[in-house]
Amino acid sequence: MIETVLAILNRPSQHAEAHDPGADAFTFEGPIEPHVQVLDLGLVRGDGVFETLNVTDGRPQALEAHLDRLARSAAMLDLPAPDLDVWRRAVEAVVAELDPVREAYCKTVMSRGVEGDGRPTGYVYAAPAEEYTMPREQGIAVVTLDRGYRHDVARTSPWLLQGAKTLSYAVNMAALREAARRGADDALFVSTDGYVLEGPRSTLLLRRGDDLVTPRTDIGILAGTTQADVFTFAEDRGIATSYELVTLDDLRAADALWLVSSSRLAAPIRSVNGDVRDMDLELTAAMNTFLLDRTA
Ligand code: PLP
Repeated sequence: MIETVLAILNRPSQHAEAHDPGADAFTFEGPIEPHVQVLDLGLVRGDGVFETLNVTDGRPQALEAHLDRLARSAAMLDLPAPDLDVWRRAVEAVVAELDPVREAYCKTVMSRGVEGDGRPTGYVYAAPAEEYTMPREQGIAVVTLDRGYRHDVARTSPWLLQGAKTLSYAVNMAALREAARRGADDALFVSTDGYVLEGPRSTLLLRRGDDLVTPRTDIGILAGTTQADVFTFAEDRGIATSYELVTLDDLRAADALWLVSSSRLAAPIRSVNGDVRDMDLELTAAMNTFLLDRTA
């Protein structure tokens, strides 16, 4: 049986009432018992935010970056600011309860709560990760999919919440199913005006010569915590890094490509729309060793 550990937050935000005044900041609960109300806006409207972080040998990775992004996403949705101290403690406590395992994942979920109640719902859960050896070592096939927005959508239409990590992931999951229908492992979103954006659950990295490039984060995409750490790794090794507007021509001209994310880490891209690409497996292995060795 897969072990899942769950903690429910009593007061996810200092700016809203506690669910149970006087009770602990969070409590461990049975993960298969019902806890969230059917009227919760996270459930009925996808109205909330979340994070998924990797846990290696019991260490939650990039925890501060994930907490910062949880707070940024919450602000974009006008949710009450999460009490990051409580969220941090809940993550650490949940992760400490997991059976020892090389890799696990931990999710933080904060919804607007039940309509009219004013108190957000918050919980943290963790479980062993799935097996990622194949995508990390043999690469992934991706297809490009039109996201249907221009690259400047975050500026022109902020209510579309592009760049926030919201609970409304139905579109992202539909894109993954479309990729599977086309025989691919993953998708890469492209803007209507021809800029390469991100995967439904990952950030694009390109190697151009000796340099690493990722799409600029002001184009309605999520600022990736894994990409940020890969850039730190690269800079430590003297590899130049940059944030750019990336076109489909840039994608074609790149020497190597990856999709990077918290759980799967760096997955080299072995084909784009059926065109076979060179993979830099040595650099991939070095990136993944670095990511798995993170202590914070
Ligand atoms: N872009 C999107 C849309 C995502 O959902 C994710 C991760 O879930 C990422 C990028 C990668 O972010 P991170 O590296 O912080 O996991």
